[in-house]
Amino acid sequence: MSVREYREFHRRSIEDREGFWAEQARLVDWKRPWESVLDFSRPPFARWFPGGQTNLCHNAVDRHLEERGDQRALIYVSTETGEERTYTYRQLYAEVNAFAAVLRGLGVERGDRVVIYMPMMPEAIFAMLGCVRIGAIHSVVFGGFAADNLARRVDDARPKVLITADAGMRGGNVIRYKPLVDRALDVASRPPERVVICDRGIDREMRPVSGRDLDYADLRSEHEGEEVPVEWVDSTHPSYILYTSGTTGTPKGVQRDTGGHAVALTASMRHIFATNPGETMFTASDIGWVVGHSYIVYGPLMYGLTSIVYEGLPIRPDPGIWWKIVQDYGVSTMFTSPTAIRALRKQDPQYMRRYDTSSLRNLFLAGEPLDEPTSRWASASLGVTVRDNYWQTETGWPILSSMLPGLEDEPVVPGSAGFPCYGYDVCLMHEQTGEEVGPGERGILAIRAPLPPGCMSTVWGDDRRFVETYFSDFPDRNLYSTFDWGVRREDGRYFIMGRSDDVINVAGHRLGTREIEEAMSDHPEVAEAAAVGVADEYKGQVVYAFVVPKDSRRLETEAGREELDRSVREIVAQKVGPIARPAAVYFVEALPKTRSGKLLRRGIQALAESRDPGDLSTLEDPAALEAVRSAAQNPEA
Ligand code: AMP
Repeated sequence: MSVREYREFHRRSIEDREGFWAEQARLVDWKRPWESVLDFSRPPFARWFPGGQTNLCHNAVDRHLEERGDQRALIYVSTETGEERTYTYRQLYAEVNAFAAVLRGLGVERGDRVVIYMPMMPEAIFAMLGCVRIGAIHSVVFGGFAADNLARRVDDARPKVLITADAGMRGGNVIRYKPLVDRALDVASRPPERVVICDRGIDREMRPVSGRDLDYADLRSEHEGEEVPVEWVDSTHPSYILYTSGTTGTPKGVQRDTGGHAVALTASMRHIFATNPGETMFTASDIGWVVGHSYIVYGPLMYGLTSIVYEGLPIRPDPGIWWKIVQDYGVSTMFTSPTAIRALRKQDPQYMRRYDTSSLRNLFLAGEPLDEPTSRWASASLGVTVRDNYWQTETGWPILSSMLPGLEDEPVVPGSAGFPCYGYDVCLMHEQTGEEVGPGERGILAIRAPLPPGCMSTVWGDDRRFVETYFSDFPDRNLYSTFDWGVRREDGRYFIMGRSDDVINVAGHRLGTREIEEAMSDHPEVAEAAAVGVADEYKGQVVYAFVVPKDSRRLETEAGREELDRSVREIVAQKVGPIARPAAVYFVEALPKTRSGKLLRRGIQALAESRDPGDLSTLEDPAALEAVRSAAQNPEA
């Protein structure tokens, strides 16, 4: 194929949506066929394959038993605990049934929510699949999020059960999960009745709360060997909720359906990730993020691959560990973030050369802008093609990719995330006029509704918020906004240039400025605070905090200033999570605002990056901006 042929493939996916997706839908098993491919009678809500019934767990596990029962489904490698465990599809079936039986035993039924707050361990995946097996809706909360953050998600999802572990480990340090759960459930207004603990024996001091906490090993032995029939659910039945940050302080529950999700991910394994059933994929991410949901768990398993589940850092015990895994398990496809590759780039290149990575065909990178030097370095050192792909929690699978049918042999242009994936009717819109912009012009990347299968169906429990957040950015209410800046070249390739809203992307992890600011405002000595994302060579962006103290006398002594600085960083780590801890805290007397009282975050960000702050005509108090400028340039001033 060629670019021209791909264009035809893409055109058909838009112009003959129903025909195109009906073909892709054959990649999954249906209990009952759908009545129609798409119901778009209530725009912008798209209902894919209504009338059809299927089950994600059946597609990820049961249907492979006959052909691949003895093939490895999961290979778990933890360089934190030193464990390596392998599960064939048959063994996975047994584990998932055990988990489903445990959940059933706790009264979890179709439509009930289950929050999963766990480190990277196979039981987290058994729990996810156990939920969807019985039609329950999981909501995985990233283990790096703090107790308050977990509490907010619990209050929104209202789970019947929460599943956790005693502890995880990162870089050799123990991270206790259970005390965070205890704290979260103390402050949550709707705590679940039961907490199931997968005890790894890491935290010997862990104490269960009597009457609430249950040990997974005990429950499992009660249900050993039980088989739980698959609960066939409607295609539009929610499969999971995954919270993500936006511009407000309240995270949004991205809700995904079942049928569209199954079809989109399975099709992407073939068309975008160019994998074949039976091969091994290594997605180095975390199940707490969308990349983990889609390409550690559902995509590879539904397409019959072996998926590597890795707990640990890319540089421990040494920076060759990932390439050793590639060699030892014959990995053909790898997926991670640009930040992880930048971390490896800092290391001695001999570690890369030590292992035979010839099984690797493609290295996919996503989650943040991929800079050219990193892309070139990775492809030269590994001898593979580096494939940038761009998407979001909301879409669940790539919007743009440099790997699509027909583009396999096209030269990759470093810095470009590629072409629009089939199913996505992509356009770039002028921020002010809302008109479409032409090649070479910067615009906000938008997608014409209906969004393709697999994308979010709504915000959990809040249809209005779905419409108001995503479909109200442009005069044309049929346009979904990604809130990302992009440019299209004449040849059709897209370049993504970062967020147009107040979302910060630290090492591929999405954080909301409001959440960080609210955490700082809870500090008893902080009058006001602003958080901005500032460009960083390794992490893409880091958080800078600009803080107005209630009493500036606190800053008069070195010790006072240091203590306030430390405690501001700490409160963010405590309330949002360690990943949000500000890299720098600057004290100012006032924050620059517009006359209508809106914080001028873009101006602050520009100054912190030593750029021109742009249009300041709406600025209320120019002195405040000057203060930010001098603070950012001279932190000790
Ligand atoms: P998340 O929902 O956490 O996956 O974050 C999604 C955001 O990450 C997007 O809206 C982009 O801002 C950014 N992003 C993801 N992939 C890419 C990429 N390949 N290039 C540039 N930015 C990306």
